[in-house]
Amino acid sequence: MLPCGCCYNCRMLRPRTILFVCVGLAAAAGLIFLLGGLGERGAGNGSGARGSGAPPRHVLLISIDTLRRDRLGAYGYARAVSPAIDALAARGVVFEQAIAQAPWTAPSHASMMTSLYPSVLRIGKYRDPGAISPAAETLAEAMKRNGFRTYAVTENAFLSPEFGFDQGFDVFHMRPDSRSAVASLSAWLGALKPQDRFFAFFHTYDVHEYEPPAEYSERFVRSYDGILKDPERLLRKALETHARFGKAVARFSEEEWRQVLALREAPGARVDAPLAEVAGFVREMNLTVKKILQNHQDYRRLVATFREEDWRYVQDLYDSTIAFVDDQLSALFSFLERRGLMDDTLILFTSDHGEEFGEHGYGGHGYTLFDENLRVPLILVYPSLAPRRVDPQVRILDLVPTILDLLAFEPSPVWQGTSLVPIMGGAPTRLIAISENAHSPLKSVRTPAHKYIASMAAPYQFLFDLAADPTETGNLAAGPPQSVQSEMRLFLLQSVLAHAADATYAAGAHARISPEVLEQKRALGYVSAGDSGGEPDAEASDWVKLLEADLSVGGARRASRPFGSEPEGKGRDGE
Ligand SMILES: [Zn+2]
Repeated sequence: MLPCGCCYNCRMLRPRTILFVCVGLAAAAGLIFLLGGLGERGAGNGSGARGSGAPPRHVLLISIDTLRRDRLGAYGYARAVSPAIDALAARGVVFEQAIAQAPWTAPSHASMMTSLYPSVLRIGKYRDPGAISPAAETLAEAMKRNGFRTYAVTENAFLSPEFGFDQGFDVFHMRPDSRSAVASLSAWLGALKPQDRFFAFFHTYDVHEYEPPAEYSERFVRSYDGILKDPERLLRKALETHARFGKAVARFSEEEWRQVLALREAPGARVDAPLAEVAGFVREMNLTVKKILQNHQDYRRLVATFREEDWRYVQDLYDSTIAFVDDQLSALFSFLERRGLMDDTLILFTSDHGEEFGEHGYGGHGYTLFDENLRVPLILVYPSLAPRRVDPQVRILDLVPTILDLLAFEPSPVWQGTSLVPIMGGAPTRLIAISENAHSPLKSVRTPAHKYIASMAAPYQFLFDLAADPTETGNLAAGPPQSVQSEMRLFLLQSVLAHAADATYAAGAHARISPEVLEQKRALGYVSAGDSGGEPDAEASDWVKLLEADLSVGGARRASRPFGSEPEGKGRDGE
């Protein structure tokens, strides 16, 4: 349960807000009581889910970056892209509704590793994601404290020592792909002594990149001759739809277009105004699928022009990378079997977020909080855990408490997640998932029945009935007022206040990004050419101002916009 003591939260607020929040929280208590309870409930203590026998000797946490749950056979996907993962799932506990706490890598993994929300850790902006504070105990630190040897292998610039992700690891390796990562992990495991217990974290970025080895694209990419395989047409379309250059290039003559397009062959060629600015952009441009999808600010309108055949090509590339990673995991699992480690190792398989393929007009990840971004696979495998499907909603935030519970270690009072062990045993639960995106900025509350999304950008808000509308296409916030909307909005306000009031992890949470890391981010498509970062974060006080407005008596409800009609500006005014 989130801390919600009124006096505690009010210490840092303005007088008007103090009055409102005190009234609001009192009202919330009444609302929640009357409506059957939005307040989250863990499942209590004790469970038969652990099964009999000793706790696991070893723990292996696998995070496949950017992996949608619905692209795995274990979650119903028809294409055979993940036989090794599916075989693993058949032996374990498969969670149907696991929700990430952020839609991009650094904040989501930070929550995964600490059981703290990104806003408590002060992590989540692209420009300055922040580092995990030394004051926060990571999973690796907890394991090390309990006598485990600890190891991590990753490829990602964000999951680096610079951002605090090496805290607690004896060995922290950076490798270029999942194949070399498996080799690195296997070598480390092979050098352990028989008496050693280990915690290993395996993270790969291969699915994120849309660049499968040829043998995999040959198997899974179907015939396609659309714009994504036509560099000249793609470049021209990218400029015509570009947020900054679109208006300028609309006035280009065919001769000017010829000069711009010729820069691809002669990037050093001199061009005069008005082509010069565009030329600089073209020279830096390397239009990969990943860069187009991930560089929302530059290519949002280009992505909006994608046709069905373009999205099919994008997803074929995506599937190919999953098949490649699956083969590497197959090799890793075979190694564990040969070494006799499989039956002694608790394996957790998950992802930090999903990926969008135009469902709501977006591609990539990191910009919205729709379910294609937030629902991730979660599979737990250990011989004493009976294979089963678990339907109740859970959170990536719950991984640390679950792992330490299965190991029979003491829980920490600072965790915001809860152990899933009772839930695996069938205990009733009603966990609420908050997800946050400091970059856009957005926040959401997800119950088993509804999802509410609030955005600072427009501003606008969404409410979805997940049972009747699992693809989140009917925005109930645009219709008549709903009591559940007020309830969820108040719950979100309550969390903002509580997280902002907790400054435990604020100190040391601001790593400045070095030029080298910034360059890596550019290569990954997170930062556009000429841009040093993303949108500024909304401060907690801005969120309080936004969320409290519609809760006040007689407050005007904000107009909700249909999907895809987001205004160009990211202003915080108009409130
Ligand atoms: Zn990621």
